[in-house]
Amino acid sequence: MRRGERTDPVLILRLAVLLGVAQVMPAGCALPRPGRQQDPLLASALSYQAFPDPSRDPRTCAGAFCTVRSYCGVPAARHAALMFDAEFRSLQETLGGDAKGKTDVTLHATLTDYRTAAGFPPVTPNSRGRFHPLTGQIHVAVVAEEGPGPSAVLRHEAAHRYLHATFDFPVPQGYADSVQGERLLSVPWWLHEGLAACMEAAGADDNGFQAGLVNSYRHRELRHRLLNRECPRPREVIGKPLGAPFNSTDYAVAWGIVHTLMYHGDPAVRAERRQRLRAYLGECAAAFFDEPAGDFEAEFVASGQLVPDFDELWRARIARRSLEQFARTFLSEGQTLDQWEEQWRREVFRLR
Ligand SMILES: [Zn+2]
Repeated sequence: MRRGERTDPVLILRLAVLLGVAQVMPAGCALPRPGRQQDPLLASALSYQAFPDPSRDPRTCAGAFCTVRSYCGVPAARHAALMFDAEFRSLQETLGGDAKGKTDVTLHATLTDYRTAAGFPPVTPNSRGRFHPLTGQIHVAVVAEEGPGPSAVLRHEAAHRYLHATFDFPVPQGYADSVQGERLLSVPWWLHEGLAACMEAAGADDNGFQAGLVNSYRHRELRHRLLNRECPRPREVIGKPLGAPFNSTDYAVAWGIVHTLMYHGDPAVRAERRQRLRAYLGECAAAFFDEPAGDFEAEFVASGQLVPDFDELWRARIARRSLEQFARTFLSEGQTLDQWEEQWRREVFRLR
């Protein structure tokens, strides 16, 4: 358009909408920051918000492993369901197990809606996604904010759900009410968060999911901390109790451990490590007991009741056994933990 020519504001707005760059955003939806527009879930939600559905009811899309309720329109619901299913299939293929039941996933259009719906304490200020182990539900805020985009957040929470539904300890009969749930967290923190961080980085194929890519955000932090000798040793992270403070460096270490166990470049090494990881997860599912039901009762039940301080004792047990079992499962014959850590460090620096 040449200078001096009159512009028709309605025409410009129409063009802007057609080009997907509408500046008219409903209240509560932040404008995307540079780079965020590439997030497919966010792009679907933003295009929906340019043409909002007058109904406030969520749109629903059923996948094989999930039911997605979307307050961000149908395309976002479809994309989320495809990506969720593709991630579950990939994890089943890699790690085995059979995640039974469908997961309820809700996509929220604003942070306020997300916080209200996912509002069990404590919701951290920068939280964008939640998996709730008691209900099995996932909530994701599909908003353009700092940090990983909503697709990465959904993949992160889906990994927690997969591990919980497949490998967390099924509570022996008669005790589900006492522990308020059918499963107790028995997959250690490093593995829950490490796998979730691996899934954040999945690339997009036709289904919106491609496993095995390096999570450059976590990798960058890990290299930096290792180079500056500010990094906790892997054994410290592996031995962290469930629910303990887990800072971004801990996430980076956990990511680095799981990534090197799952996605080594040499197919023979990769296959062997995955085999060991499956064996480790089998131990997690049994909460590292030899006889799960009997040993659970012997250690944690007195006069038909769970022992006092059960939660604390449980977390301590998982943390202790996590590291012991790690050494038994992943160290080669004659290898010490120091040698394994050094080898891991070298592999992290070679990742691209
Ligand atoms: Zn997490």
